[in-house]
Amino acid sequence: MSEKVVTRFAPSPTGYLHIGGARTALFNWLFARHRKGKFILRIEDTDQRRNTPTATRQVIEDLHWLGIEWDEGPGTEGPNGPYQQSQRKAIYARYIKKLLDEGKAYYCFDSTQELEQLRSRVKAEKKSFIYPRPDKYPSHEEALKKKAEGTGVTVRFALPRKEIIVDDTVRGQIKFGAGEFGDFIIQKSDGFPTYNFACVVDDALMGVSHIIRGQEHLMNTPVQMELWKALFEDIKLPKYAHMSVTISQGGGKLSKRQKPKALLQAIKSNKQIDLVKLAEHCNLTAEALEDFINGQAVPDVPVIDAMAEYLGVHLPEINVIDFLQNGYLPEAMVNFLTLLGWNPGDGREIMSVEELIESFDIERLTKTNSLFDRKKLLSFNTEYIKTISKEKLLEHFKDYIKTINSPVSSDDDELLGTLLEINEGARTLAQIETKCRFLFYENEQIEYQPKAVKKVLLTETGLAMLKLVRDRLAQIQDVTEEKLEAMLRSLAEEKQVGLGKVAQPLRVAITGTTISPPIFNSVKLLGMENVLIRINNTLKKFEKE
Ligand code: GLU
Repeated sequence: MSEKVVTRFAPSPTGYLHIGGARTALFNWLFARHRKGKFILRIEDTDQRRNTPTATRQVIEDLHWLGIEWDEGPGTEGPNGPYQQSQRKAIYARYIKKLLDEGKAYYCFDSTQELEQLRSRVKAEKKSFIYPRPDKYPSHEEALKKKAEGTGVTVRFALPRKEIIVDDTVRGQIKFGAGEFGDFIIQKSDGFPTYNFACVVDDALMGVSHIIRGQEHLMNTPVQMELWKALFEDIKLPKYAHMSVTISQGGGKLSKRQKPKALLQAIKSNKQIDLVKLAEHCNLTAEALEDFINGQAVPDVPVIDAMAEYLGVHLPEINVIDFLQNGYLPEAMVNFLTLLGWNPGDGREIMSVEELIESFDIERLTKTNSLFDRKKLLSFNTEYIKTISKEKLLEHFKDYIKTINSPVSSDDDELLGTLLEINEGARTLAQIETKCRFLFYENEQIEYQPKAVKKVLLTETGLAMLKLVRDRLAQIQDVTEEKLEAMLRSLAEEKQVGLGKVAQPLRVAITGTTISPPIFNSVKLLGMENVLIRINNTLKKFEKE
């Protein structure tokens, strides 16, 4: 029997879960499930300034949405809790003391300026900075005295001076020379442990057997290994797998900076935008907007999103919630993300989560970077919308309309089911929702898109045709889709025009746009009374223009 696999996802929550973090969580989760092991969620929230409870909640919600469930973590009564580092201070203190007592760590009293001076001296000599280890370590009494005097006291780990070899599952053996790392801080002056320290203590105490994480952490691994050996002689080191990087289509990492960048481009390339209105609408001062446009400051994400929505600009999705809000299915996301830097080796692409669990192994993680191909994701999403069970799709659609505060009401399952059916072939839930909003507006709430009006209604035949359609509609008894179709087709034939010439004015009249579900279904669902009111409203509004 091979050893029990225990993996963990250890986010430092600073806001919604980034798609890269979701991939890390997913790989750890899939691997644990594949090996019938355990998956732990640990919240690394020791940075008092950046890690908020709201951010933790958001990360948890995003993981739930993706269907990534932990065996131990916040909300479970696991044996290794608490699972939030901010609640584990006493545990870290114990291990800091152990290292100090054994002479494997020492107190430091340097001020920020002193450290700065040390660093700049080394920089001037073009060497990399290694903290100069004192010959004699300060005593506990000295540290207490310094603290009482108001001096910041930190603790550093005395890193053994020797070559360190990391045996990485993805990259093979990587050697780090004896002088590459210096004695690093393990306890900050505020009493909190640093990431490297808390991470090692928790990984060891929680029995983590495999650490699967982003390549950016590779440089932390050698020092974490040494710390582990110094602290936990008897506990076997975990195996490491550093995943390759995912690149965005424009090159570079998928970072949250892409959103403001895309928005800025859109603003700059459209001279028609009324900047005063934009600022007003998004509660931004004129100066703040100007600073943004001049590249001097970047507003917060909600403001960026509000501006994009107001301008109708589509921003690249970066966080998990962006994908949820833009109508992606979690199943499609999970499938797509798993193929970023991993493949089953037999050419399969569309795979259910059960199939992914069955096939996933870290031996097949690829060394090469992967491309975040949004077109591919969209085609996965289209496929999942088409093939997933009706019940699941309905569940996701309801989730979706609640999340975006849609005018589409979520309480009529039968109606929602019909909407999903008549929108066959949709690529996202957002497409379905946008097309169906007209059904949930009051008749007077219909906003006519200027382009649609110009192209369809204010033409030679547009309004006249609409009148004809209205009169014939009024004559239909007991409306069915078939009767509607027969009527519109015969009218088109009579007038010797294509069906579009008859149907489009009707569509614009009832929806305000040129896009809706099939027109026969749309009319039937809206109900004849409302259809006639909307047609009359439209005629009244545009006939005089
Ligand atoms: N809290 C770290 C991060 O979010 C965890 C890194 C690790 O997996 O060790 O990047």
